[in-house]
Amino acid sequence: MSGVLHASGSTLGRCMCIITGASKGFGRALAHLVLHYLKPGSVLLLVARSRPLLQQLKEDLLQSLKDMEEMTIFCTVADLSTKEGIEDTVAMARQQSLKEIDHVLLINNAASLGDISPFENFIELERVNSYLAFNVSSVLALTAGVLQAFPPRAGLQWSVVNCSSMFAVQAWPSWVLYCTAKAARDMMFRVLAVENPNVKVLSYAPGPMDTEMQEDIRRLTGIQCHLHPCRDSAAKLMRLLLDNAFVTGCHVDFFDL
Ligand code: NAP
Repeated sequence: MSGVLHASGSTLGRCMCIITGASKGFGRALAHLVLHYLKPGSVLLLVARSRPLLQQLKEDLLQSLKDMEEMTIFCTVADLSTKEGIEDTVAMARQQSLKEIDHVLLINNAASLGDISPFENFIELERVNSYLAFNVSSVLALTAGVLQAFPPRAGLQWSVVNCSSMFAVQAWPSWVLYCTAKAARDMMFRVLAVENPNVKVLSYAPGPMDTEMQEDIRRLTGIQCHLHPCRDSAAKLMRLLLDNAFVTGCHVDFFDL
């Protein structure tokens, strides 16, 4: 599958697009792809901790743009496991809220693998809390902050993507932290979907991809599976967003498409 979808000519509109965890892996591939579907006047906000990687990404993206004046790309260097990181990201988004945009797209992609270890090893509350703070709580707080900054209203398309996993629905031994966080995130976004019909919500499980997270999995568990290029999974997600035919709140897996 190619990275760019040539088919229908549809776009995401004049969009405020926020991608967390954009510095590497799937987030980086999404940033490269999404750029082709943003209308002039759009804003792309890239969030991660690594300043050099974000800067490099921004330069790469600007180079691939035909008309730099028509697209604004911001890098927000933020640790989303902290209150400051979330507040800085929301503040950066809020600064753009006066622009005339017709679509807010928030892609909650950042996550961590956490310790892979038997259940009975997690006796330290701090260890568990710190994992869930980043992988669950920060996603709620960030999404809530962006919803406040861009209140959903008629005429404004609002989409949230939750980067999910098959582990949101399948229990796996020694993966209690990751499974718990992914299941919690799916439910969090199902609640948003039923609560706010003006927000289109998608939990997308991107399938096994060739990223640093998979390198860690291999190193920690010895598990080696067939990995897909991030751009293939990014292309499937983009197709879903462009078609906009998915049921809000649903969980869609790479292998279902
Ligand atoms: P990855 O290679 O580990 O990249 C994670 C991204 O999150 C990086 O850009 C990282 O950037 C950022 N990040 C990590 N901690 C952060 C923090 N505290 N604050 C802000 N940003 C932070 O992960 P990936 O494999 O691309 O996975 C992307 C998403 O897909 C995740 O939600 C993952 O759970 C899900 N997923 C992945 C696979 C897979 O096979 N890879 C399979 C199913 C689901 P910095 O280090 O610069 O902060």
